[in-house]
Amino acid sequence: MSNAPGQLIVLAGPSGAGKTTLAHHLVETFSSAVFSISTTTRNSRGSEKNGVDYFFKGREEFQEMIEKGYFLEYAEVHGHLYGTSKAWVLKELYRGASVILDIDIQGALQVKEAFPASILIFVLTPSPDVLRSRLISRNTDDPDVVRRRMETAVWETGWIGSFDYYVRNGSLEDSLLQVEAIFRGEKLKLANMGFPSEVRAFSPDSFTGLEHWRGKRVIVTSGPTREPLDRVRFISNRSSGLMGCSMAEAFRDAGADVLFVTGPACNSDPSGTDIITVETAREMLDTLMGEVERADLLVMAAAVSDFSPSDFFDGKTERAGTVELELEATPDILEELHRSVDGMCPVMAFALEFGSGGEERALRKMKRKGADAIFYNPGDIPGAGMDVSSNQGKLIFNNGSSEEVKRFSKRYIAELLAAAMGRYLTKGSEC
Ligand code: 5GP
Repeated sequence: MSNAPGQLIVLAGPSGAGKTTLAHHLVETFSSAVFSISTTTRNSRGSEKNGVDYFFKGREEFQEMIEKGYFLEYAEVHGHLYGTSKAWVLKELYRGASVILDIDIQGALQVKEAFPASILIFVLTPSPDVLRSRLISRNTDDPDVVRRRMETAVWETGWIGSFDYYVRNGSLEDSLLQVEAIFRGEKLKLANMGFPSEVRAFSPDSFTGLEHWRGKRVIVTSGPTREPLDRVRFISNRSSGLMGCSMAEAFRDAGADVLFVTGPACNSDPSGTDIITVETAREMLDTLMGEVERADLLVMAAAVSDFSPSDFFDGKTERAGTVELELEATPDILEELHRSVDGMCPVMAFALEFGSGGEERALRKMKRKGADAIFYNPGDIPGAGMDVSSNQGKLIFNNGSSEEVKRFSKRYIAELLAAAMGRYLTKGSEC
């Protein structure tokens, strides 16, 4: 098993679509796959065993488990409660296992909400008639139950668009191959496998310093913030969150325990990190306030909005000829943290600058914000800065030294920056 956290794979679809067979096939085929045994309030059927097929519980006990936050997701399905253990799933993912869930649609949607990186597979029969005849041939449900399950299936199919993959379960042989292909394909995604050590081997000196992060606590902020004008409109910027997400992945792959604090961004789900999503600059500051003392590094990769509207309208502002907008400066997160937190951790900041004199402005920003290093990002160079997949710039340290960073993919640059920060702090430049 690799160092990268495992994937959470959810098979969902109407009862009788065949997802249990597909789920068990994955577990039998791949040694890294484990099946999550659900807890339910329904009685065991036929040969089902407690602790093997389900954990069977009374409704009262299940309710208590809900209140204690035991479940990653739970739902009422066909009159019974079903739920998945949060602690078990997290433990398995962190040891690198791929966890397979065979759950209903409501549960699948809850999992996606909690784990945006989870992989949702929708399983359906080729027609409603096939589903009905499968339910009848199972011989476990009376005609009334079959009718209700068919009705539920109509509702369930309405959620198809929230899924990542679709398996049309006509020929079982084909469906088995399809879920295997999804499993193998997901494993080969760079974002899921951890940074390849073979790549580091091509330039070993550049990556010295990464070992500094093993077991350390690193906070990475990412994405833009949104400063609301009214209930639908906001002030924000073009940040995609890719640089921050890549930084989080680099520290994670170096063995750090990463807290990822992100504004609303497209790239907001580095798996294997603790993720807190915020909306405004103020929320980001408040979140960091309780965390930075315990951290070994804060990486401020977020493109925090510099201004927010002075007033908020609790509705949708009507279209008018002219609207006057008054803006005020948002809190400067690093300055506030330095002012309010005793024992502030080392900081690596980012400075996106345009035009001449950008490097000097970045340097002044580093001093003013009390950062240990700043990545000067010249935004007017094509292929660098916001909303592009590559970057380049200069990492400037508080002791006067600096390192040029040539143009590469943001994921690679994140490794270089994490290594350079590790080298710098290993030399004993901690604040
Ligand atoms: P059955 O009672 O036929 O075993 O399962 C009924 C439905 O409940 C199936 O769609 C099954 O996938 C779903 N289910 C089983 N375990 C869970 C669970 O832990 N959570 C949710 N949300 N649904 C589950």
